[in-house]
Amino acid sequence: MTNDCVIFTPKNPLPQPIALRYNAFMTLKITSFLTCLLLCLMPPVLGEDKNTQPAPEKIYNGKKLKVLLITGGCCHNYIFQSTALSQGIEERVNAEFTVINEGGKGTRAQIPFYNDPKWADPYDVVIHNECFADTTDAEYIRKITEVHKAGKPAVVIHCAMHTYRSAKIDDWRLFLGVTSRRHEHKSRYAVIPFAKEHPVMKGFPEKWITPKDELYVIDKLWPETKPLAYSTSERTGKKHAVIWTNTYGKARVFGTTYGHADDTFRDDVFINLLARGTAWAAGKL
Ligand SMILES: [Zn+2]
Repeated sequence: MTNDCVIFTPKNPLPQPIALRYNAFMTLKITSFLTCLLLCLMPPVLGEDKNTQPAPEKIYNGKKLKVLLITGGCCHNYIFQSTALSQGIEERVNAEFTVINEGGKGTRAQIPFYNDPKWADPYDVVIHNECFADTTDAEYIRKITEVHKAGKPAVVIHCAMHTYRSAKIDDWRLFLGVTSRRHEHKSRYAVIPFAKEHPVMKGFPEKWITPKDELYVIDKLWPETKPLAYSTSERTGKKHAVIWTNTYGKARVFGTTYGHADDTFRDDVFINLLARGTAWAAGKL
């Protein structure tokens, strides 16, 4: 409340002699009084609230991208993550999400969605954020990888890297661009970019400290994989790629191994990264 505003209460009533003298001057005074009252009662204007974040930068404003998010499986809060991811990316990229959350919360599932060989046709890019480590059926896995190999762009997040890890075939790992079979403890890891010139990494900090998340141990980078950033193991001192791009057949693939915790999905750096990665995979960056 500013010093110009005076609230008239029963203890501090509008002075009677002035109130009775109704003329143009009083109209002005009463209007002024009402304005003061309204201003004093109104919540702070959004722009003046120190806690309000500015709207995120628009990364892509062209024709609306149709994004398919495949999620579900073990060990993560996929309902929250799907909401945070779709809302965060739609704020930054002109995109429309379809979310398929199937297969329950276990480590083994074969979702019927992939039975249609044209499952990805309506979409420009597919985000995989699922966690089914113990599904091993080669024919099932190839229903997914063959669609990507033919050119459907993809984004792969966190436990997608451990999905199908028990399978004998390498198709899924070749699609991801990395082989990982285990992770280290949760911690706040420093993420250091080493491909700052890559369009996905534009605006990425010199050093990003993650919310408490898991460090995935990368056993192998496949030949088409270009690592964009790394984190260092607190146990072994070994550097592991945590953000990368891959080319799988005709498809662009963008990946990150972070994304265990809800707090990671609340972090603007992470959501910006995923938004840029999605636009890049779709050829729109
Ligand atoms: Zn996890």
